[in-house]
Amino acid sequence: MTEAWSPRVTRVLAPNPSPLTLEGTNTFVVADPAARSAVVIDPGPAGDAHALAVLRACADREVELVLLTHTHLDHAAGARAFAERVGAPLAALAPGWATPDAPDLAAGDPLATAGLELVALPTPGHAADHCCFQLAADRAVFTGDHVLGRGTTVVEWPGGDMAAYLASLELVRDLHPERLYPGHGPLVPDAVDRIEAYLAHRRGREAQVLAALAAGDRTPAEVVARVYAEVDPSLHPAAELSVRAHLVKLAGEGRVVAVDGGERYRPVKAG
Ligand SMILES: [Zn+2]
Repeated sequence: MTEAWSPRVTRVLAPNPSPLTLEGTNTFVVADPAARSAVVIDPGPAGDAHALAVLRACADREVELVLLTHTHLDHAAGARAFAERVGAPLAALAPGWATPDAPDLAAGDPLATAGLELVALPTPGHAADHCCFQLAADRAVFTGDHVLGRGTTVVEWPGGDMAAYLASLELVRDLHPERLYPGHGPLVPDAVDRIEAYLAHRRGREAQVLAALAAGDRTPAEVVARVYAEVDPSLHPAAELSVRAHLVKLAGEGRVVAVDGGERYRPVKAG
């Protein structure tokens, strides 16, 4: 399903819906209306039908550059084949993914392509290699899985980093974007409000985790049983990975103490 989100941005929905990917992965074709070339962000899963839909959205424009927000397979499995097919460089933060001719995203250099300027914003948290892209012409940021169009994103131990995630949310918020183009779900028109809600959600969860330790819980599973008491127990294993991400952050900040190699945690004694 192809949809114009702005005069410069076309969203092509990949056919991979699931609880984690919502309606599917959003692949974006980005180009100034007057440009003869285009940038493609997150080619998405492998598969000829989706690649052809993306090429149709490019119309008669040549693909100049392919960008990845991160290398989780729902965004990146089809990326190498797509870049090869169109003969464009593939840029990504993850080591080993970028082609030799690709711009260096870690350096934060502006990507002047397709008549536009995109700025790479390394935003670790959901994944260590996550990168958002700012499109100043739209006052917008492509957020990948950093901020979704609906619900909240997954920040799980051990792949995710909660401390980095919150810092990365603040980084995008402080650019004062007006709209977000997420990797899943619909366009976010109230960008700063949405990011503030994400920050409040995580801070609220962190306070609950601290309160659970203060009440005597010691293992991540005990914390989950208390904090997620209202949630279907079948979701508790996933919740535990999120709670562990919070506990690792709190331990790193010296606000809780990890014992037994991180299998148990206790509050920092007052005084
Ligand atoms: Zn994703």
